[in-house]
Amino acid sequence: MSWCSRARSIGWLAAVAGIVGLGVSTTPAAAQNYPTRSITMIVPFAAGGPTDVIARIVTAHMAQTLGQSIIIENVVGAGGTTATARAARAANDGYTLITGHMGTHAAAVPLYPKLAYHPERDFEPVALLAGTPILILARKDFAPKDTKEFVDYIKANSEKVNAAHAGVGSVSHVSCELLNSILDVKPVGVPFNGTGPAMNALVAGQVDYMCDQIVNAVPQINAGTIKAYAIATPERNPALPNVPTTTEAGLPKFQAQAWNAIFAPKGTPAPILAKLNAAAAKALDDEGVRKRLLELGSVIPAPADRTPEALAALVKGEVAKWSAVLKPAS
Ligand code: ASP
Repeated sequence: MSWCSRARSIGWLAAVAGIVGLGVSTTPAAAQNYPTRSITMIVPFAAGGPTDVIARIVTAHMAQTLGQSIIIENVVGAGGTTATARAARAANDGYTLITGHMGTHAAAVPLYPKLAYHPERDFEPVALLAGTPILILARKDFAPKDTKEFVDYIKANSEKVNAAHAGVGSVSHVSCELLNSILDVKPVGVPFNGTGPAMNALVAGQVDYMCDQIVNAVPQINAGTIKAYAIATPERNPALPNVPTTTEAGLPKFQAQAWNAIFAPKGTPAPILAKLNAAAAKALDDEGVRKRLLELGSVIPAPADRTPEALAALVKGEVAKWSAVLKPAS
């Protein structure tokens, strides 16, 4: 089953098509010649986390197609919303883009009542890059041996355990909020500037557990530096064949898969968006890119799910979904 049909089956997508806006500040000639200089790709989290890794894998190939370098700029803070607000205000000329995700472009909306941008009104969707299943992870010497023991332990020690995340509204934050509400527990949250540094803390045994996108977990799980209790998707992931699903592990209510996608500031001219979308699609068809993404457990979107319209529909559905379940952070 493709990632998108899986997402649909758990009700993530609203059947509403987005409309790609027309630019006003870039001349038609400039749009036709685009790009004539390097492009900045803002990553709203620290280096080494899933967003950073996915952005680097895909943009390295896009740069070859576009004939210009794409410079990754990690801009951290406030669960990715600081960087996303900056990207929303950037010139809409195609030279500043952002790799956002389910947090920055959906879950942040209900959590930050004064959010300085709106994912739908302030951005043009460019392309979905990857679906990223969520895992329940823990430091390797955390006492519980399996998911059942984990649930019992967390319930009995709710106030004593802590959970790492990448800031309010990040994927790791809202995924664990979902898990914690299912378990009716309130562990201490420990924020980091991304789950790259959060993973380092987990490996070092400084935090107890984390719910995060599969991408930077696979190498650590395979190296035995952390433990994975379960993957929150209906099926096991080929990159981690030994990790049971939450359903297999007795926690079927916890289902979570995030995603990463490229966005441009609102009003970026349509010809530029089309070039960027085509370059992203070409990257996702490249054997080397696919291999890297798949070995890290990502779910590569099928061609029909790579269009700006499909991404607009995904964002609309996700904003609605998270707005229904999350309340402003206190
Ligand atoms: N996975 C992170 C999150 O929890 C962010 C990151 O990519 O570092 O939102």
